[in-house]
Amino acid sequence: MKNFNDLIDKLRKEKTLTKEEYLILIKNREKCKEYLFKNSSEVRDKIYGKDIYIRGLIEFTNYCKNDCLYCGIRRSNKNADRYRLTKEEILNCADEGYKLGFRTYVMQGGEDGYYTDEILVDIIKSVKLKYPDCAITLSIGERSFESYKKLKEAGADRYLLRHETANENHYKKLHPKEMSFENRIKCLENLKKLGYQVGAGFMVGSPYQTEENLAEEMIFLKRINPHMVGIGPFIPHKDTPFNKEKQGKVDVTLFMLGLIRLTLPNVLLPATTALGTIDNLGREKGIKAGANVLMPNLSPVGVRKKYMLYDNKICTGDEAAQCIECLKQRINKIGYNIVVARGDYKGEINYDKI
Ligand code: SAH
Repeated sequence: MKNFNDLIDKLRKEKTLTKEEYLILIKNREKCKEYLFKNSSEVRDKIYGKDIYIRGLIEFTNYCKNDCLYCGIRRSNKNADRYRLTKEEILNCADEGYKLGFRTYVMQGGEDGYYTDEILVDIIKSVKLKYPDCAITLSIGERSFESYKKLKEAGADRYLLRHETANENHYKKLHPKEMSFENRIKCLENLKKLGYQVGAGFMVGSPYQTEENLAEEMIFLKRINPHMVGIGPFIPHKDTPFNKEKQGKVDVTLFMLGLIRLTLPNVLLPATTALGTIDNLGREKGIKAGANVLMPNLSPVGVRKKYMLYDNKICTGDEAAQCIECLKQRINKIGYNIVVARGDYKGEINYDKI
């Protein structure tokens, strides 16, 4: 027990461990999780206080040219009822979100060729013109350097592109052969070069993932040093090849959140909807483990059930206003506050003083 806590002290101080040390902690998580969460929570509080940032998720298309084996909107899923939102519908989501206190919009979707650079530039510019005080985050998969550049110049501030797994062999087991780990990482590097605030991330408990892979995630994240890290449990979707696989575990996800907070102290770290889906109090537990971001759904209620990445996703029947009210109460109950702010990465804080 003492040893594990010593390792956590070391991680807090040095902001990194070896792969072997991370693995020891992950394997012995039951024995040291309380101590980890005490530390990760303290570090988060010192940098971000009791503020929880919210991002309004606008799921604007569920068409996708990719065939990721885990994902419910993969192109081979003939049961998916496909939709696209128009610029006007997206602007309506933004209007609704602004009134509810959102100052970041996350435009997420499948890789849908319909949304050319030209169309996206027009949408981004329109949202920015109306809401210059809001940040736009894109989460639309792999595109060329030139495309990312155009979208950045149009006003996009941030980009979420989970790498899904840091292990190339594991990546191959989750994706069809036309997709490559190399390109995914290249995209992350390009996004960084272009000055986006960049979010990487992975699924916890995806098929074939080992504890060693989880330790590799930590080494990878330290190297990539992203501004945001999105992690959530893998949850099977009935119409995918992984429909019989086991879902990821709450306790492992929470433990990884704690490790990430200590490894990248300033990181923007969401307690994800997937975590809230497998545990009714998952998002609250995520915050207690070191998370500081929530991403409620702002998509029109009519399309929410169609953006099913995994089974039983929560909040697909509620209006955005209901969701935010419910979340505010939940968060207040555990001593945190949802704030009206863009919630940018706090890079200037010198965490060595902590
Ligand atoms: N097309 C975009 C957005 C993908 S959806 C892109 O490529 O980045 C956002 C995230 O949902 C994915 O990165 C993946 O990590 C997660 N996801 C997809 N299917 C999932 C599942 N079955 N369980 C849990 N998370 C899943």
